[in-house]
Amino acid sequence: MKLKRVLKDKNVNIKQEKPLIIAGPCSVEDYDTMDKIAAGLKELNIEYLRGGAFKPRTSPYSFQGLKDEGIEILKNIKERYGFKIVSEVLDLRDIEYMIEVVDVLQIGTRNMYNYPLLKEVGQTKKTILLKRAFSATIEEWLNAAEYIALEGNDDIILCERGIRTFETYTRNTLDLNSIPVIKQKTKLKVLVDPSHGTGRRELVRPMSRAAIAAGADGLIIEAHIEPDKAFSDSEQTIDLKELKLIIEETNRIYMCI
Ligand code: PEP
Ligand code: MN
Repeated sequence: MKLKRVLKDKNVNIKQEKPLIIAGPCSVEDYDTMDKIAAGLKELNIEYLRGGAFKPRTSPYSFQGLKDEGIEILKNIKERYGFKIVSEVLDLRDIEYMIEVVDVLQIGTRNMYNYPLLKEVGQTKKTILLKRAFSATIEEWLNAAEYIALEGNDDIILCERGIRTFETYTRNTLDLNSIPVIKQKTKLKVLVDPSHGTGRRELVRPMSRAAIAAGADGLIIEAHIEPDKAFSDSEQTIDLKELKLIIEETNRIYMCI
């Protein structure tokens, strides 16, 4: 593997006090819903709020996100509660105004191979959450991170979100093998997304536990006050009670490893 910037310099793993948790709805829906979700997440002491304003949907007829109106809602929520905002960027042209609000720019699974987009986010000073393409080998994924780092930004967090296999019971197959590989080979943090990784809300908690046990630095989870009403990815979205259990259980596991 020919990599320079993202490789580990020393053989140390810096452990945080607790796993990093990013939670929130798949899509930003409207101000009131976001406000209620945000209030609930604040009670759980969550610092990072996720919410997509630009949604890369498989069907062009599905909800495509509120776009700039969604970013505006995130801005207001950020001002009210002080969250760090995580949101996906789909298009080079949106970066400039998104970075006024968004703290962590998410590169989604479909854009992991979008090298012009990777280079452009590499020129920002934001944290980049780089999701693994559902068809990417670990080597391709790390090379995508290298593209970003080469532009000068090595504030990159990798995110394992499942890959496509022959299995259809789950939406994707969460490749937990990648976690210790990333931790052994690179200096980057790695999160697991058990929501997209399973596609089923009843599997989110067990796979969150497994992810932390495998050495992940944290989780990104789709959570909503009324999961059944979520505009997108409702089947894999959990409620805040379930999220609370996940936080308690994974904190305990994290302390033991
Ligand atoms: C998302 O986080 O809502 C999303 C679209 O993720 P992915 O790119 O992993 O499918
Ligand atoms: Mn989603």
